[in-house]
Amino acid sequence: MDLSSKVKLNNGVEMPYLGLGVFLAKEGEETYNAVKWAIEAGYRHIDTAMIYGNEESVGRAIKDSKIARSDIFVTTKIWNEDMRQNNQEKAIDTSLKLLGLDYVDLYLIHWPVKEKYVETWKKMEVIYETGKARAVGVSNFNIHHIEEILSVSKLVPAVNQCECSPELTQEDLADYCKQKGIQFEPWGPLGQGNSVNNPEIAAIAKKYQKTPAQIILRWGFQRGFVNIPKSSNKTRIVENSKIFDFELDDADFNKIFTLNKNKRNGPDPETFDF
Ligand code: NAD
Repeated sequence: MDLSSKVKLNNGVEMPYLGLGVFLAKEGEETYNAVKWAIEAGYRHIDTAMIYGNEESVGRAIKDSKIARSDIFVTTKIWNEDMRQNNQEKAIDTSLKLLGLDYVDLYLIHWPVKEKYVETWKKMEVIYETGKARAVGVSNFNIHHIEEILSVSKLVPAVNQCECSPELTQEDLADYCKQKGIQFEPWGPLGQGNSVNNPEIAAIAKKYQKTPAQIILRWGFQRGFVNIPKSSNKTRIVENSKIFDFELDDADFNKIFTLNKNKRNGPDPETFDF
C-alpha cells in the first residue's frame, strides 16, 4: 500500500485512501499552493466544498499540474442554502464551472438539512445519472439520517464523511456504514489540530519514530477509512502523506480507541443551526 492505494466504492469507483482537505484554505495562493504541493508529493485526491469558496483555486492547481483528469479524485459538496432553495442541480453546475471540470468524482450532501436532505438525495440520484458525479454520498449523516434516505431510495451513498478523531472515535456509525457498504471518511481526523498534542499519541509516535499526525492518520487507515487531513504547509502536507511505510501493532491501534471522549470540535449533526 502507498499513496496511490485506493478503495473500491460500492459502485466500483476507486477512491484514494489519502487526500488533501482544503477547509479554511483561502481562495487564491494559499489553496493553489497547497493543492500544487500535494500533487507534487503524490496526492491524487482533493476534498473541497462549495462553501469553502476555493473551488476555483483547486481546479486551477489541478489543471496546471498536467496530471490526467482521470488520475485525480475530486470531491465537492452541495451547501445547505442550495438545498433550502431547491437549487441542487444548479449547484453542481456552479461547482463544476468554478473547478473547471466536466465532472467530480464524488458529490456529497454537506449536512443533513432538516426537511431537505431526503428530497436532495433524490436529486443526487439524478445528478449521478447525468454523469456529473461519478459517485454520490453524504456527510454528517447519523444512522437515522441514512436509514431515512434508504427508505425512499435504492441508491446507497458511496461515502459518509463525518467528524472522527481519537477523541471522537465514531465506532457505531463507522460499523453501521461498513455493514451497508458505505465508505467512512473522517473529517477533522487530527481533531482540527488538537489531537496532535495528546501525550498518549506523542508516546506512540516516539515508539514508531513518526509524528503524532502520522500515527493518527495511520490509525484511521488501519480502520479502513479514507483520510483527508488539511494543511497548507508544504512540510506538513508531505508529512501527512507518509503513513504507508509502517504499521501500528494491535496494542497501539487499540490504545487510541481508549482516548475517545465523544468530543466534537465541530457542530453536531443533530443540533447544527446553519
Ligand atoms: P484536520 O483534523 O485535518 O486538522 C487540520 C489542522 O491540523 C490544520 O489546520 C493544522 O493546524 C493541523 N495540522 C495539519 N497537519 C499537521 C501536522 N502534520 N502536524 C501538526 N498539525 C497539523 O481538520 P479539518 O481541516 O477540519 O478536516 C480535514 C478536511 O475535512 C477539511 O479540510 C475538509 O476538506 C473536510 N471537512 C469536512 C467537513 C464536513 O462537514 N464534511 C467539516 C470539516 C472539514
